[in-house]
Amino acid sequence: MEKLAIFGGKPVRENKIFYGHQTVLEDDVKAVTEVLTSDYLTCGPKVSELEKKLADYCEAKYAVSVSNGTAALHCACLAAGIGPGDEVITTPLTFAASANCVLYVGGTPVFADINPKTYNIDPESIRAHITDKTKAVIAVDFTGQCIEFDKIRKICDEYNLILIEDAAHSIGSLYRGRKVGSLADMTCFSFHPVKNITCGEGGAITTGNDEFYKKLVLAHTHGITHDESLMEEAPHEGSWYYEQISLGFNYRLTDIQAAFLLSQLNKLDSFKEKRKAIVKKYNEAFKSIPEIIIQEEIPESDSCRHLYIIRLSLDKLNCTRREFFDAMSAENIQCQVHYVPTYFFPYYKHLGYSEGLCPNAEEVYKGILSIPLYPTLTEKDTDDVIEAVKKITDYYRR
Ligand SMILES: *Cc1c(COP(=O)(O)O)cnc(C)c1O
Repeated sequence: MEKLAIFGGKPVRENKIFYGHQTVLEDDVKAVTEVLTSDYLTCGPKVSELEKKLADYCEAKYAVSVSNGTAALHCACLAAGIGPGDEVITTPLTFAASANCVLYVGGTPVFADINPKTYNIDPESIRAHITDKTKAVIAVDFTGQCIEFDKIRKICDEYNLILIEDAAHSIGSLYRGRKVGSLADMTCFSFHPVKNITCGEGGAITTGNDEFYKKLVLAHTHGITHDESLMEEAPHEGSWYYEQISLGFNYRLTDIQAAFLLSQLNKLDSFKEKRKAIVKKYNEAFKSIPEIIIQEEIPESDSCRHLYIIRLSLDKLNCTRREFFDAMSAENIQCQVHYVPTYFFPYYKHLGYSEGLCPNAEEVYKGILSIPLYPTLTEKDTDDVIEAVKKITDYYRR
């Protein structure tokens, strides 16, 4: 048996690769530098152009761009009118922002469990957590796979709940042929460098609802409007006049970022093809390894996958997840874990949440790690990842 790099053997590759990496090309650089010498660095034409193009791409009526994905979720909670006394159901297997946004507006996050095969929120668990206080559901397209939209929509309609989709992982994905961004009441995107497309930091919300749109616009620009039809006093002072009519934030995206993102959006479909090809290759390689569980996908989802997660069958291996992770790192493949269940964090424990709330999520969490997935990985890179997983599994097999 081959000696693992962690015990002094030769690593499968010389240089380190990471679980995710942005793809920035010449045309992105050109788009950004053009804005730098233009008249507007922010609040200019690139932002409106981006919002139009993003809405078109997502087949949505409106898109509002914001400074990051967390701001998108915060604005969606504000537009939904969530406040003290309201409960919002979400998943624990996500980035903390999916629940933190509910706390920002004084609401209470309630954690529903996941489906242990797809890792997405289980519609029946959503139903089981509904009370008189439930106001909304924040469902996450985890790893880029669409939520079970039809089932969740039906439950939300039955109980009159607002459906917010956290699509930080899933821009470019389709549900039954429909674009993510056109499905839920509001859909929130992130453009952080590890996500499917990036502009450094950035986010957006799409919606088809006129009322939500008006509130989203206000929420991300201080609650200030230049639109007379929205004003309370409107003294007809002229075009310079504006009114603050709610308490909003400065969550604007700059024109520099908007130009970057417009350029990235042109490449999203080609990025998707590359991501899909890598997912297919990994699935083929790992399906014959009994110690590795691969994520299942529902047939309704055509996923632009942001993450590729392997789940270790720890009962079949003589190692912990920590040891497997460190062994991958020594082979020069830097993995990550997505995610610690949100309510495991000390901040949430202090709020009164405790372990045991979502047994499926907790069980899945124990064995998962994310391996490299991004468009510029070469055949050699993905071969190396597969080789490292096989080498370590062979070594630790019971
Ligand atoms: C990245 C991410 C966010 C937050 O996005 P930022 O742009 O980093 O603020 C929210 N939800 C999920 C599921 C994410 O992965």
